Amino acid sequence: MSVFEQLSVVIGAGLSGLHAAWRLQEAGHAVMLVEARQRAGGRVLSVPTSDGAEHRLDLGPSWYWPEINPLMSAWVQRLGLTSYPQHTEGASLLEGPDGAVRRLGHSWEQQPRSMRIAGGMGALVGGIQSLLTQVQWLPGTLVEALQLRPEGGVDLHLRQGERRWVQHAARVISSLPPRLLAELSAEPAWPPATAQGWRRTPTWMAGQAKFVAVYEQAFWREAGLSGAAGSHRGPMVEIHDASDGAGQHAALFGFLGVPPSYRQGVGEVDLRQQSLAQLARLFGPQAETPLWSAVQDWAQEPFTADALDHRPLSQHPVYSAPNVPAEWRGRLWLAGTEFAPQSGGFLEGALEAAEQVAADLLRGS
Ligand SMILES: Cc1cc2nc3c(=O)[nH]c(=O)nc-3n(C[C@H](O)[C@H](O)[C@H](O)COP(=O)(O)OP(=O)(O)OC[C@H]3O[C@@H](n4cnc5c(N)ncnc54)[C@H](O)[C@@H]3O)c2cc1C
Repeated sequence: MSVFEQLSVVIGAGLSGLHAAWRLQEAGHAVMLVEARQRAGGRVLSVPTSDGAEHRLDLGPSWYWPEINPLMSAWVQRLGLTSYPQHTEGASLLEGPDGAVRRLGHSWEQQPRSMRIAGGMGALVGGIQSLLTQVQWLPGTLVEALQLRPEGGVDLHLRQGERRWVQHAARVISSLPPRLLAELSAEPAWPPATAQGWRRTPTWMAGQAKFVAVYEQAFWREAGLSGAAGSHRGPMVEIHDASDGAGQHAALFGFLGVPPSYRQGVGEVDLRQQSLAQLARLFGPQAETPLWSAVQDWAQEPFTADALDHRPLSQHPVYSAPNVPAEWRGRLWLAGTEFAPQSGGFLEGALEAAEQVAADLLRGS
């Protein structure tokens, strides 16, 4: 039997793809992990606040909820990561449409309590990646098309820069958001109803953008503020403290409430200025001069968002288990958080969907 007749190729090295690759590696499978970006993590992205700093700022997800996220909790424990609660002590603020700021006497408690990970969510990605010692890792490699082989297995059409080649595999596990999967060229083609269903499935948070600002000190804490704020004026609609667990590396982050078309129109420099001016209205003039600040616009990331994701969502979508087209069954498995019926959209959902794929695949169904 050739090596290709055994090979499982996982497409996408977000949390779901990493977990699927790990589960198959642990079951003794030959695994290749193909990722379009130069880095693993997908929507998980944690960046250093300064050269050599251990603290990482989360530009994607920041929180998990141990009470309802058993698979996330298991990884935190398995990797020996430290988690700490989101800082909420102190008063929160509410900014009206006219810019008037009201100080709310109470802290903005989240229920269940949101937990963060020391080193950012990226510590989870790095930790899982370090365990994939037997997995062939192909960063910067785009899957352009999938083709069923008449003699069995799948051909993946891959591209690395200008270089294109075909990779044979026994089976493929996709962890792509359904909207990106729908646009992937396939032979036989995805049935129109299936592709329609995938296009109708929003990629969670793909239309969102975050603003982060790093400071010398958490001056808002000294003023009795938690760093949490809501705003009807914007550009940020929801703001939180993003400092590390010890409160030493001080930072704030906010979700930008202005739509992707506006963000693209005004550009990053303007958005930064508007966001810093808002932080100054809320937390005082010190907020206007951070050590470092950044905008991360997920709607402009082609390996996350589709044009359909630029439409705002009014609520959390209902996600369901995948319906793999009949001709592809046994050759293609679908992971990714948008295929998780219980925790779809969340980090836990990314693990849930991958866990289901691994269980089905290893059972031989
Ligand atoms: C701003 C923001 C805040 C969030 N906050 C939270 C939070 O606090 N808590 C929470 O639980 N969840 C949160 N989420 C959601 C969470 O990030 C996702 O549920 C999770 O990261 C999804 O993981 P995934 O592996 O399913 O998908 P992804 O991370 O999207 O992984 C898909 C991977 O496929 C790759 N890819 C795409 N196309 C191709 C191709 N053609 N060929 C090869 N590779 C390809 C991508 O580069 C990517 O690495 C947030 C998301 C965002 C954007």
